[in-house]
Amino acid sequence: MNKQDILNIKDLLATPKQIVIVPHKNPDGDAIGSTLGLYHYLLKYNHSIAIIAPNDYPNFLKWMPGENSILKYDSQTDESDILIKEADLIFTLDFNALDRTGHMESALSDAKAVKVMIDHHQQPEAYAKYIYSDVSMSSTCEMVYNFIEMLDALEKIDANIATCLYVGIMTDTGSFRFSSTTSTTHRIIANLIDKGAENSKIHNAIYDTNSYGRLQLLGRALSNLNIIPESRTAYITLSQDELNRFKFVKGDTEGVVNYALSLKDIVFAAIFIEDRQNEIIKISFRSKGEFSVNEFSRAHFEGGGHINAAGGKSHLTLKATVEKFISILPSYNKALNHE
Ligand code: 5GP
Ligand code: MN
Repeated sequence: MNKQDILNIKDLLATPKQIVIVPHKNPDGDAIGSTLGLYHYLLKYNHSIAIIAPNDYPNFLKWMPGENSILKYDSQTDESDILIKEADLIFTLDFNALDRTGHMESALSDAKAVKVMIDHHQQPEAYAKYIYSDVSMSSTCEMVYNFIEMLDALEKIDANIATCLYVGIMTDTGSFRFSSTTSTTHRIIANLIDKGAENSKIHNAIYDTNSYGRLQLLGRALSNLNIIPESRTAYITLSQDELNRFKFVKGDTEGVVNYALSLKDIVFAAIFIEDRQNEIIKISFRSKGEFSVNEFSRAHFEGGGHINAAGGKSHLTLKATVEKFISILPSYNKALNHE
């Protein structure tokens, strides 16, 4: 995004517009935080704004300011389609390809609106007129902060905006510990606290919401942990029967893969979660150092993301998916033992 782009966007935003803001499917803290942060900012300028998420998100995000106004495309399709069709501007946040919005993809690609992408994932597709893509960024929330700064409007950041942006930076950096966390990230976080983000309260609201069932499910996940030492890899499986037994709800498996990555000497971790309803195995990959799980997932499991965090899927059974994973690994042993 160059200076001229910013001037053009400023120009567009100078008069009230119909705006739609979209996060990716299965939105996480950064997706919801960035859309809500931008929403609260744009609301200050008399635009009419809708946030449309492709589908629902975990309960631990359902306290965020403005969250109850988010539409869900899968259950509010007709209303959403009209808003998308009539929009002047569509902001797409925290994703890099329209197919990351699932069933919203065709409505978004048909829309006449000017599209603006703000995102930090690898290999962005060129579907938007204005693209602010930076893979070095900790989070899309950090980029929304920068975007507001580019618009010379940092003084507009209030407690609501600060709270939402804090959430996404915190969740996408694993509470400020991943290597994407820079001194600038910390300076932005400091500013957000000064603007009214209550850091300790936010942390509790996101992370201290475990149910008994979720901890039991975590126990099962940890007992299903497998290690492949020669590949410095660890993986976890959860079958649909196990999810049912521990009364799984959306969000319960979030972060579980990090336990596998926390093992000493392990640089590559995966979790395979059976989703019988959608007939897929949902996969999360995580790594440390140079090993790119984005490349690995793109090559073998129809996914992608970042160097150290990516998603993917498989249409095989859980058992066959794990067998495929194990059979591929040896060809990466050299790279994995380089870390
Ligand atoms: P998770 O494992 O938590 O689902 O995803 C890890 C990261 O990869 C997140 O930033 C997520 O947005 C991204 N991601 C997940 N699935 C995909 C995918 O299919 N394609 C791309 N490009 N990114 C993905
Ligand atoms: Mn993100």
